[in-house]
Amino acid sequence: MRRPRRAKILATIGPASGTADMVEALFLAGADAFRLNFSHGSWDEHAARYAAIREVEKRHGHPIAVIADLQGPKLRVGHLTGGAVDLKEGARFRLDLDETIGDEKRAPLPHPEIFKAISEGATLLLDDGRIRLKVLSSDESHAETEVVVGGRLSDHKGVNVPHVELPLAALSPKDRRDLDYAVDLGVDWLALSFVQRPEDVAEAKKLAQGRGAVMAKMEKPAAIARLDEILEHADGLMVARGDLGVEMSPEEVPSLQKQMVRAARQAGKPVVVATQMLESMVSSPSPTRAEASDVATAVYDGADALMLSAESAVGAYPRETVAMMDRIITRVESDPLHRRFLDAEMTAPEGTAADAIMAGARQVARTIRAAAIVCYSTAGSTALRAVRERPEAPILGLMPDPAVCRRMVLSWGISPVDSEDAKDFDDMVARACRVAYWRGFADSGQRVVITAGVPFGTRGATNLLHIAWVGEYQDRRADNRPQRDGPAVE
Ligand code: PGA
Ligand code: MN
Repeated sequence: MRRPRRAKILATIGPASGTADMVEALFLAGADAFRLNFSHGSWDEHAARYAAIREVEKRHGHPIAVIADLQGPKLRVGHLTGGAVDLKEGARFRLDLDETIGDEKRAPLPHPEIFKAISEGATLLLDDGRIRLKVLSSDESHAETEVVVGGRLSDHKGVNVPHVELPLAALSPKDRRDLDYAVDLGVDWLALSFVQRPEDVAEAKKLAQGRGAVMAKMEKPAAIARLDEILEHADGLMVARGDLGVEMSPEEVPSLQKQMVRAARQAGKPVVVATQMLESMVSSPSPTRAEASDVATAVYDGADALMLSAESAVGAYPRETVAMMDRIITRVESDPLHRRFLDAEMTAPEGTAADAIMAGARQVARTIRAAAIVCYSTAGSTALRAVRERPEAPILGLMPDPAVCRRMVLSWGISPVDSEDAKDFDDMVARACRVAYWRGFADSGQRVVITAGVPFGTRGATNLLHIAWVGEYQDRRADNRPQRDGPAVE
């Protein structure tokens, strides 16, 4: 099966999409990768959804990336009288460590780290930013605040403390258990919520021990301030616009999104644009024009993947939403302006052999109108450099490690194929042409550009660029069994 699209679709699986049939329907509609959200659902539910995804992957002979999204240190207020209270603008409201049930004058906030970190003038946001409090005074165990924007506050609502770096572990005890569980299941990526420091990412990477790549969710101002350092440690970024728009403000989101997509592209790491992309499709079969435009913007910017949250997890139209996203992306990618925007944001190759070969491969492929760039990559790092070039030709990544293959699915413009490493030069050419043909990327008589490293089988040694003609093969439809690098299901 060949997907001509360059930007990828990451769909969150939830109650509306967890069955084997729905997972397959979303895959066929265009979902390349799936997110299991560990803020909701039980381990058994995640395991069943994971199994359904792998089943679809096997049936279609097509690698799928699975992302486990860890909840992170989510702060919450405690119990309130009657389950909810009304906070009036201008009123005083006290938050403290006392576990006594709260009312409209005070409430428990069982997080000593907050009191230690805030001081007079700080802002506390409750319930996704709907309620805003200003700190008048505070000590180690309480804060006196004034209600700036009031509203109804109910039990256990979330608390955000913008612009204050909290001395919180990036991974709560629940996150650590979830992380272990998820990597044991076999997920390809771990997404880390509320990252504040590069050390948070380093810690998750240490715990994962290479059993999953780590994506930093950018949703805190403290993380934005250290974007470059976080990008050095993380394997990928998520522009987590939901919480980002609360921690900062909605008008900050567009520029920050552009800044993050640009930085990740420059670093050659995948970046996912997430949250509310087609939000109205939770309850409507078609999106607003503004949403269609939002999806398009991320594609014009060259983001690697676009995410669906509630739309595919709990919405009434999960399949229609994926199909709609697929259509918008495909349409934008056919616009000549798309290429102009991509090129405008291009940064020069770095001074390495891999970058030089990949810049060359792009140039050669464009000049001879090659059908594809076939990139042999053992650890995936050279394939990432090919992606960084954002070439006109589709990239086929031939990778001997299925885990690397699945991880790479999230990246722009690349179709990873689980394949053995080339044995020698003739095998390299023959295998590349065969895969390009069978996967529907090239016809007989077309040319492909091949990149590889000699001696074969060594890591990170890309030093070869070769042009090959694709020869005559059996009819593609004659044999459609999914095989390692032979015929693929159409
Ligand atoms: P969430 O992350 O869906 O886990 O909150 C994404 C976001 O905040 O945008
Ligand atoms: Mn979030």
